[in-house]
Amino acid sequence: MMYRKFKAEALFTGDRFLTGGEVLITDKDGRVVEIVDGSAISDAELFAGTICPGFINTHCHLELSWMKGIVPKHSGMIDFLFAVMQTKPAEGQEVKKAMYVAEAQMVRTGIVAVGDICNTSVTIDIKKDRLLYYHNFIETMGFADSSAPDRFMKAVQVFNDFATLYPLPVASNSIVPHAPYSVSKTLFDLITRFPGNRLLSIHNQENSAENEFFLEGSGDFHRLFNAIGVDSSAHKATGKTSLQHYLPWVLRNQTIILVHNTETGSKDLQYINSFAAKGVSTWMCLCPNANLYINNKLPDIRLISENTDRITLGTDSLASNDKLDLLEEIKTIYDAYPEIDIQRLLKWGTMNGAKALDIDDEVGSFAPGKQPGIVHIEGLTPSGISKSAKSKRIL
Ligand SMILES: [Zn+2]
Repeated sequence: MMYRKFKAEALFTGDRFLTGGEVLITDKDGRVVEIVDGSAISDAELFAGTICPGFINTHCHLELSWMKGIVPKHSGMIDFLFAVMQTKPAEGQEVKKAMYVAEAQMVRTGIVAVGDICNTSVTIDIKKDRLLYYHNFIETMGFADSSAPDRFMKAVQVFNDFATLYPLPVASNSIVPHAPYSVSKTLFDLITRFPGNRLLSIHNQENSAENEFFLEGSGDFHRLFNAIGVDSSAHKATGKTSLQHYLPWVLRNQTIILVHNTETGSKDLQYINSFAAKGVSTWMCLCPNANLYINNKLPDIRLISENTDRITLGTDSLASNDKLDLLEEIKTIYDAYPEIDIQRLLKWGTMNGAKALDIDDEVGSFAPGKQPGIVHIEGLTPSGISKSAKSKRIL
């Protein structure tokens, strides 16, 4: 058998650094054979920096790639949503071309799997090429209870389109709620009760107006609803944060990836942890560059990381990010929170993401038998990350 042997200043396994000159041995396709002591191996390929498993991007919207650079930065959440809704959709060819460019960037920079939000079936063709693994989160929304059956039926149609790509559709596709403020209880219940729907995702506490809408019943979301002709006048204060409003609707044995968490506080984090005992699994997905793009504010990542290690990373879409590059997300967190161990940041971007998408039997770490993709990160070692650090898929 043909083997490949990789040696670097540091070898990140998926959950820890090895810095003793160990060598990663794979077959010619990158399937891991073992990690061995490197002192007797003279023919390994040598790299400066770190070698790590492929990155897992747990939150993206590939279908919005054509919106790159369209919405001004720091416009705030409500005006960001306005801008997205008011932008004239691009032509089909332009949408398609932007998706291919975006996917190529993910491949090049070492992303191997993506949790991808889908409002339509437009990404089906690109996904047939299987350059990346995708879990398709078919997203639905509808504030008015009465619209729930119709909205849900449309989501099921999109689900059925994607289902044709997979032998076991429910393993790679789910129907998910868009956000706490955009999904009624009736619609949420239809989602959680959809047969086989085990892995959910939701945009959670992305800005302060969202919590205000639930806690006080007031705030900027009414401006948004007014503008789109949705009557929100009957909406009442719940006295709960948005998270505490909907998390009880998630069923036992379901897993939900909470995306953004910009306004998630310590009481919310305790609340989340209390649901683990009830059999509801959660992951906190951080998309720091999108948060800076839209709200110019990061989540309290130190607080979140002190409360849980169930953290993953995402790029969000090119509507709110300059790049789909997970190392750029890691660099942003490192820059703002240098006290968080680099080892943890890499784990969030690799093994944790794989666990969240339930594909850790195949990717996310250098355990023997997996084919996780092999990524070289130049400018990253256990002692620091340089501003110019970059990642590249090498196998
Ligand atoms: Zn998003």
